[in-house]
Amino acid sequence: MSTQAPERHEFQAEVKQVLDIVVHSLYTDKEIFVRELVSNASDATEKLRHTQITEKEIFDAELELEIQISFDAEAGTITIRDFGIGMSREELVENLGTIAHSGSKAFLNALKEGGGKNENLIGQFGVGFYSVFMVADRVEVFTRSWKSDGESLRWSSDGSGAYEIESAEGERRGTRIVIHLKEEFKEFADKSRLETIVKNYSAFVQFPVKIDGQPVNTVQAIWLTNKSDVTEEEYKEFYKFQAKAFDDPRFWLHFSADAPISIHSLLYAPTENMEGFGFGRMEPGVSLYCRKVLIDSDPKNLLPDWLRFVRGVVDSADLPLNISRESMQDSTLVQKLNKVLTKRFLKLLEEKANKEPEVYADFWSKFGIFLKEGVTTDFTHRDQLLKLLRYESSYTADKENTSLADYLSRAPEGQKEIYYLSGPNRQAIESGPYLEAFKARNIEVLFLLEPIDEFVMNHARSFEEKNFVSADNDAIDLDAIAPDTETEKPEALEDSVCSELCTFLKEQLGDGVEEVSASDRLVGSPAMIVNADKAMTAQMRKMMRAMQQQGGIEDKEPPVKLQINPRHPLIKNLASLRQNDSELAQLISSQILDNARMAAGLLEDPTTMLQRNYGILEKLSERS
Ligand code: ADP
Ligand code: MG
Repeated sequence: MSTQAPERHEFQAEVKQVLDIVVHSLYTDKEIFVRELVSNASDATEKLRHTQITEKEIFDAELELEIQISFDAEAGTITIRDFGIGMSREELVENLGTIAHSGSKAFLNALKEGGGKNENLIGQFGVGFYSVFMVADRVEVFTRSWKSDGESLRWSSDGSGAYEIESAEGERRGTRIVIHLKEEFKEFADKSRLETIVKNYSAFVQFPVKIDGQPVNTVQAIWLTNKSDVTEEEYKEFYKFQAKAFDDPRFWLHFSADAPISIHSLLYAPTENMEGFGFGRMEPGVSLYCRKVLIDSDPKNLLPDWLRFVRGVVDSADLPLNISRESMQDSTLVQKLNKVLTKRFLKLLEEKANKEPEVYADFWSKFGIFLKEGVTTDFTHRDQLLKLLRYESSYTADKENTSLADYLSRAPEGQKEIYYLSGPNRQAIESGPYLEAFKARNIEVLFLLEPIDEFVMNHARSFEEKNFVSADNDAIDLDAIAPDTETEKPEALEDSVCSELCTFLKEQLGDGVEEVSASDRLVGSPAMIVNADKAMTAQMRKMMRAMQQQGGIEDKEPPVKLQINPRHPLIKNLASLRQNDSELAQLISSQILDNARMAAGLLEDPTTMLQRNYGILEKLSERS
């Protein structure tokens, strides 16, 4: 054993930031430091249990796998000890000196992205190991790695800017954390206090947790227990424990199967969508066990990517225990599990949608985006996913949704397609030019309000053999579906005048238009662009740019097909204006095109349009 002087290390800047917040502001719940340290002890012990299976030589192999908590009320210390994998010198630096691990990283991201807004959320967020500095003015971590060439080490810090690492003497395998409580928190060094905290937060730890030698938890693998023996409360608590979540689960699926593969699983849908809060992309969170032994806490291929919001546990006795994580992720067994689990989870969602529509509607409002992602990326499950899609439509009330099946059940006999319009919000679509003709014929149109929806339609193509078609498509023969109910229509321009006006517009608008024609589909709007869905919408262009796929996205927008409404006063006036004031007529023509492009979501940069608009206003104001 060397007797070198302690090595001094500065905490990484991010750690200092976290420490500062943890110590000075966030938590009112100081006691959660126990939960965090016990959870780390449990993680380290789970890892050891797995290592025991894959490695031959393990230091201190005969040690019991349990977590021991002891305290000294007089000295004001608490010691939390595990016999898990322990840490090497490098691991101490990496794990306790930098932020490379999940909990604290998510916390930092949340701080960066959500700022003060998310304070409530952040307050509930696990910041892991560092939470101990809320209550401690000094923390010592004694540790010995499972590796046979490991050394006994002592890490210590007061949680300000730096920590020290030095050699220690005679540590058993695992980690022993000695917490020197601040004067005002010495109350935690108390048996019943600690017992209550452990029972509250750590009831589901898969190893005995002992305080002063007495077990305080009942180790139970709830996913292997009979459904009838688990209470609702236990399900909820297990979710919080397993997912390290602060919310309640909204619903769960506890199921077992023997064929085609042995499965015991408990899958949860959370209440909150953390991605929706700007916490960054979620990592998968369903842990894989084999007969209660944790194989991998967040395997990548256990569920499809679009189900990454699901939390829970899957236990399969068919898994070979001694498999490495890497080869396990790609194994056919995991693929089989994936298939069964996805199918069952989708079935659960379908059941919710049918039997508890309000529960499903609320789920959809938070997690629908994941299912949409599924439609665009997962061909295998597309048909099942399509049944789960919900959209607002011209038939639903504001914020109410319809399923595609319900949409079709209302469609007139002659309707062979599913129509949709996309826009930034319901109002924009309702006041735009495209809905008019459909409204006049009582044909329902789905409202797509999220940028991803256009991708969804493009990928899905059809539902029950009815193609998805954008309602701005000029090939739609509306009269063949249902008659126009609009009875009193204003007089239209004479055909010859109208076609002259179209020619004039085509000339004026030059490269901007491919074609200008008259249309009787318009009711209250002067003009519209048809087939805009073939062009890339401004939203899509922005998204593509954001995704840095500039290649192929031309800056110049392609020419469009413009249709004008020969019954609209503006169009009628324009026909005569072009004889009398060609300059103003020209400005108005260009403005009509830009307005139509705007309504179609094609106008990316409004600068020119605004300038021109002022020009028109100026001209009009001169007249009075
Ligand atoms: P997280 O648990 O989310 O990874 P923590 O801040 O709680 O973050 O812990 C940081 C890291 O320190 C852990 O990922 C683990 O590698 C290491 N660690 C903490 N406690 C222990 C322990 N008792 N035994 C072994 N390693 C530990
Ligand atoms: Mg932790």
